[in-house]
Amino acid sequence: MKGVTILGATGSIGVSTLEVMARHPERYRAVALTAHRDVEGLYRQCLQFRPAYAVMAEEAAAAQLASRLKVACPETRVLAGTAGLEEVATLPEADCVMAAIVGAAGLLPTLAAARAGKRVLLANKEALVMAGRLFMDEVRDHGAELLPIDSEHNAIFQCLPPRDGCALAARGVRRILLTSSGGPFLRRRVEELATVTPEEACAHPNWAMGRKISVDSATMMNKGLEVIEACWLFAAAPDEVAVVIHPQSVVHSMVEYVDGSVLAQLASPDMRVPIAHALAWPERIESGAETLDLFAVARLDFEPPDLERFPCLAYAYEAARRGGTAAAILNAANEVAVAAFLAGEIAFTAIPRVIAATLDALPARTAAALSDILDDDRAAREHARDLVRRYKGS
Ligand code: NAD
Ligand code: MG
Repeated sequence: MKGVTILGATGSIGVSTLEVMARHPERYRAVALTAHRDVEGLYRQCLQFRPAYAVMAEEAAAAQLASRLKVACPETRVLAGTAGLEEVATLPEADCVMAAIVGAAGLLPTLAAARAGKRVLLANKEALVMAGRLFMDEVRDHGAELLPIDSEHNAIFQCLPPRDGCALAARGVRRILLTSSGGPFLRRRVEELATVTPEEACAHPNWAMGRKISVDSATMMNKGLEVIEACWLFAAAPDEVAVVIHPQSVVHSMVEYVDGSVLAQLASPDMRVPIAHALAWPERIESGAETLDLFAVARLDFEPPDLERFPCLAYAYEAARRGGTAAAILNAANEVAVAAFLAGEIAFTAIPRVIAATLDALPARTAAALSDILDDDRAAREHARDLVRRYKGS
């Protein structure tokens, strides 16, 4: 029986993880579940899965949850804040930690899980984008196991030869081909992008996801973050990761070898597939996802990305090449800009403007310590918030 901590249990990935675990009660039990401030959501999950710990990131929400669970589920201890998140990420009874908090808020607990030598199932790509080298070093130094949940990276993991930590070329790999659906605005006229609404941006053609990653998919910053994520996970240089638009989201990514072979992983677009893969690896278990019906899919299309329509993708490559804290600055500016767009404060087309101007204003430096990354994250957020105030209503 494996104990599982889920950081971000009430989100899209968290809920899918619990669905897969519920299909295999003899293999997995929930040790700890966490949420930001959704007391009702975490309360219901606690009643169903009866974890030893529940954490609310917000103190006031934790007090509310504790009073509701006191009678209904007395075996669950309620903790609060970042300290609570870090505690449940390192529990001896947790074999496996699903890192499914969205954004920079997930960095510290995910790093704590790596330091505690856990099997880390990484959905929280922002953590790796911000602190890639540090994170990979912690994984190596503490004997943690890092398994990608992002469908593309999970596909690449499945298509690569067994891991040995060395560079791609030494493994006979020429390139990684990272697929992207192109999001909801792949065919939208560029002049119309200035007036698209948050609801349109969140209406992804193939995936149902949280709002932040949905907007990232619409700008293609999601693919940009994934390029950086792939560089760290697979010891690749930015130029060894190519983005391929594939509107059907059936081929989840590919690996091209020097002999001309290209290996792909295909599945229905359902996050329970990579989640089940990473939970059980190297075994295989049922995920609950529908079997891929190739006759219903009928055709698979591929095209190159348009960097003028999707400038965020170009900014992410630039940050990946620059290295140091550049990716943390990119990520922070993006988080601020996306939140402002979702709040109706700025136009969709102001998102790339905020990111580009923040990257131009703040020089990246070597990310020698976590404090360098957190300082530049903070400075980038402040700068991006100033820009949001300037671009408001424009
Ligand atoms: P979501 O918004 O649905 O859920 C986010 C979870 O994090 C929730 O449980 C929320 O309570 C928690 N959370 C939010 N802010 C927090 C904070 N400040 N402190 C503590 N907890 C906080 O997001 P999601 O779609 O499940 O995505 C989660 C992560 O997985 C993201 O990094 C995303 O990029 C990645 N991911 C998601 C998908 C997908 O299909 N949804 C696919 C690939 C990767
Ligand atoms: Mg993805």
